[in-house]
Amino acid sequence: MRAEEKAAVLLEAMPYVQAFQGKTVVIKYGGHLDGELGAFAQDVVFLHLVGIRPVVVHGGGREISALMERLGKKPVFVEGLRVTDRETAEIAEMVLSGKVNQEIVAAIASRGGRAVGLSGKDGALIRARKKDGPVDLGFVGEVEEVDPRLVTTLLESGYIPVCAPIALGPGGEAYNLNADTAAAELAVALGAEKLVLLTDVPGLLRDRADPGSLVSVLGVREAEDMLSRGGVEGGMIPKLKACLRAVGGGVKSAHIVDGRRAHFLLVEIFTQEGAGTMVTPGHHDVAVAAAAGAAAEDTVVELERQHYWPVFRRQPLVLVRGEGSWVRDIHGRRYLDFVTGLAVCGLGHCHPRVTRAICEQARELVHTSCLYYTVPQVLLARELARLSGLERVFFANSGAEANEGAIKLARKFGSREGRFHIVTVRRSFHGRTLATMAATGQEKYHRGFGPLPPGFSYVPLGDVQALERAITPQTVAVMVEPVQGEGGIYPAPPGFMEALAGWQGKGILLICDEIQCGLGRTGRWFAFQHYGLRPDIVTLAKSLGGGVPIGAVLAREEVAACLGPGDHGSTFGGNPLACRAALAYLEALQEEGAVENAALMGERLGAGLRALAARHPAVAEVRSVGLMAGLQLRVPGAPVVAACRDLGLLVNCTEEVVIRLLPALNVSAEEVDLALGILDRALAVADEALAGAPAGAQDVPAPGVSQ
Ligand SMILES: *Cc1c(COP(=O)(O)O)cnc(C)c1O
Repeated sequence: MRAEEKAAVLLEAMPYVQAFQGKTVVIKYGGHLDGELGAFAQDVVFLHLVGIRPVVVHGGGREISALMERLGKKPVFVEGLRVTDRETAEIAEMVLSGKVNQEIVAAIASRGGRAVGLSGKDGALIRARKKDGPVDLGFVGEVEEVDPRLVTTLLESGYIPVCAPIALGPGGEAYNLNADTAAAELAVALGAEKLVLLTDVPGLLRDRADPGSLVSVLGVREAEDMLSRGGVEGGMIPKLKACLRAVGGGVKSAHIVDGRRAHFLLVEIFTQEGAGTMVTPGHHDVAVAAAAGAAAEDTVVELERQHYWPVFRRQPLVLVRGEGSWVRDIHGRRYLDFVTGLAVCGLGHCHPRVTRAICEQARELVHTSCLYYTVPQVLLARELARLSGLERVFFANSGAEANEGAIKLARKFGSREGRFHIVTVRRSFHGRTLATMAATGQEKYHRGFGPLPPGFSYVPLGDVQALERAITPQTVAVMVEPVQGEGGIYPAPPGFMEALAGWQGKGILLICDEIQCGLGRTGRWFAFQHYGLRPDIVTLAKSLGGGVPIGAVLAREEVAACLGPGDHGSTFGGNPLACRAALAYLEALQEEGAVENAALMGERLGAGLRALAARHPAVAEVRSVGLMAGLQLRVPGAPVVAACRDLGLLVNCTEEVVIRLLPALNVSAEEVDLALGILDRALAVADEALAGAPAGAQDVPAPGVSQ
């Protein structure tokens, strides 16, 4: 591991180390994990050294059977439980207490820990009676009582107790215990923070055949539901029951973790992501509900339906976590994400650097208001000025707000000469506030919200003559997306942008809305750089905070000079949390060469899409710049979006017929190829629709084109 990786691991672990100081963690080490003893012992010693109190309970079933076979005695099992006659009980005790226990003690000792081997008989730690059941299992015990004083004493003296799953019977005889149950009972009696069951499976799988369906968090109620519905595979049932017993008895959480994987024990305890299945007492929070699958999904969808504004046509997906270009839904299914929160998660989901910056800043200072200076705000302003070549920056909280600021700035600038009018482009999208909606050149966004703020008119993208006609003595600015996003991925023709640069010379401000196309998405830092011009005002938002809401208005010095104190402001705008996230995001973009990657991967994606267009009659046109790509179909795109989703790829459809792809800028070649492969399959749906469509359907243009 490189030093930076180590540091990252340590930083992530730190809060958990602090939270679990002095807390007891009972770990059950499975009998079939003998090959992993070294790594396990090392982890236990590590836990001890960082101030956590580990208690080990171990199994040893396989070794018991092995010795029995060597002694010529055949092991017999009934419903997974060993039939334990007196002789078998003696063998079991010999193996568990004499051999396995001492091997673990020695392994811990050889890594610098002071372990003490014991069994449930020592100090009358665990008392049991004979387990009843339909068949006589012999000396298989059921826990009656745990007296944890011996273990507590050992822990207080700095020892690591290692306990064999053997209990003391009423007549002094030894009873064999299920090690998971023994660990759970011990955890309850000790008031442990956690119970961790190390086993030889990845954890609880929602779908036994799919290792990707690991349930990472499970509420008690959901776990009980799963058990009663028969949704749990045989070997997992006693483990899940042990977890429920522990959590029901006051243990804060119980975990089922793959012990075959080196250090998964630590990953489960010290990272948010975890490595296995965690059973917790809660069931109200969505993260917990997340594990409950279908029922929880229905709940989320129903809650939305009841309480959210009915303004979204949502995909039937409840997303619960993400990492890089991948997200998981509430069922644990994975999707390659080529939507990335509509171009917001530019370095994929939960980039470690951004996440760390957010966490650190959240501990230092979240908000101050605009009455005071803050460090992240000025550092971010300086960085954006450096990258864009525009000297003055103002921070907002969203794209619409950034554009609102740009419109206000232009109007203030023109106010000396009575100029206020702004020309924008048809099919554009500038936001949902009243002024930015008025600036948006699409009637469908205006309908029902009039009267709109006056002072806007629209020209078709690329129409230089229409532009000339639209500019009046009152005109102060032209506002344009260098690559239209929401409107269906239309890059502005170079001649049009040249004309705008020409108008700049005549006092008309050029406002570039780079909220979607900026910050590397097109393969350059700013989309305007493709045209070799320098705008007067540039707006940013979407990816700027790496997922945290923040917008920015950048302006030339001489334009911003028209502003004075009191002319504009924002309570939240530019607060330390958002700015720190944005700084981390911009640093990561640069260090990882993500803009160059976007250019490279953009070419790969564009070439792949053109190849698809050649094969699929339903594709009318491909438009792409860098990692902003649109696949214009001759039929509605929604079925293609659904087919992609079923195949594990998230894409979005805009303007009804344009499949829009906005992958993370650090997407890999493999991920691009994977997406192209899925699209190839999904487009068959569109081809079929086209073949079945009535004559003439093939000529239907994008709705936006007709505006
Ligand atoms: C998304 C977007 C906006 C609006 O941003 P919000 O944060 O949703 O207000 C404005 N302009 C463009 C080009 C956009 O893509």
